[in-house]
Amino acid sequence: NKQVLFKDYVTGFPKESNMQLTTSTATLKLPQGSTGVLVKNLYLSCDPYTKIQITKPSSDTDPYTKTFTPGSPMTGFGVAKVLESGDANFKRGDLVWGITDWEEYSLINATESLFKIHNTDVPLSYYTGILGMPGLTAYVGFYEVCSPKKGETVYISAASGAVGQLVGQFAKLVGCYVVGSAGSKEKVDLLKNKFGFDEAFNYKEEPNLDAALKRYFPEGIDIYFENVGGKMLDAVLPNMKFCGRIAVCGMISQYNLEKPEGVHNLMFLLSREVRMQGFIVANYYHLYEKFLETVLLDIKKRKITYVEDVVEGIESAPSALIGLFTGRNVGKQVVVVSRE
Ligand code: NDP
Repeated sequence: NKQVLFKDYVTGFPKESNMQLTTSTATLKLPQGSTGVLVKNLYLSCDPYTKIQITKPSSDTDPYTKTFTPGSPMTGFGVAKVLESGDANFKRGDLVWGITDWEEYSLINATESLFKIHNTDVPLSYYTGILGMPGLTAYVGFYEVCSPKKGETVYISAASGAVGQLVGQFAKLVGCYVVGSAGSKEKVDLLKNKFGFDEAFNYKEEPNLDAALKRYFPEGIDIYFENVGGKMLDAVLPNMKFCGRIAVCGMISQYNLEKPEGVHNLMFLLSREVRMQGFIVANYYHLYEKFLETVLLDIKKRKITYVEDVVEGIESAPSALIGLFTGRNVGKQVVVVSRE
């Protein structure tokens, strides 16, 4: 059973050497009387929040998720096939998605966090992205937090990623004017030509983010979907319209800093009566079925599309995870452990 273990806490930028590939020879059998499931992992998801789990817990941070213990396997979202089940809700052969370990086979005791996959006429890997946690994040953050209306102006940072590409497409379906930023020409082309954004720009090539935002939003921004934080947030705040909304989904530019950057323009929240609200997708799983039904239909009607960045083999997982923080991934980062 090949595994990726979490070796060491990280301060600053994560490194592959914080993880270790090993092979466990422990017997793979569901223990007598277990109410868990034994699964074969098929696809693993790389997600930015994992950085928070490999950072040493400290008293002046407020982690929104539990940190890992050195020596234990890395965990995260994945798609898996049930081999043995001690839980009456699952049987051999079922396909599931949810939290699993970074290894070929896993014993999962917390079966309450597993979702059974019923629709298999879409790529199974979609349950790590558009039909899984990142998809629900986009749905909750946009529809529940941003209260969008037709004709409004929407700006999305890290727009070509797992969450952002979907937010932009939702916003177009509502009838909004949508602009996204991303870190390469390839990503900007995807935003405009594949996901149907009205405009897109490479933030790395903009000497002045404020000027870039004024170019695309001469009248201001109604909705900002925040994935990045720091300087980007500071540039957005003075460009918000009166009664605008900011959904704080993530702040990836801050995750590897030992001290988060200061934000200077918060006064604009007051003067423009802007509502800024964070959210954690884990608190919205009650909306999953409704979300799934809507998005499956949109995929089938070809109203929504999705781009994945797929790497082969569990050995590739550490490097794929780290690539999220340099922007190497183009679309949702998925690791194939096994295709069946
Ligand atoms: P992505 O697929 O977008 O991958 C991360 C991307 O972030 C990179 O490709 C890169 O794109 C960009 N990035 C990395 N470092 C920086 C930086 N220093 N400054 C600016 N951009 C950077 O990830 P997800 O779509 O999965 O996640 C997007 C955001 O949503 C993250 O902040 C994540 O933490 C958050 N999130 C929040 C959830 C919640 O419950 N609130 C749930 C899931 C995700 P580029 O090339 O464009 O720079």
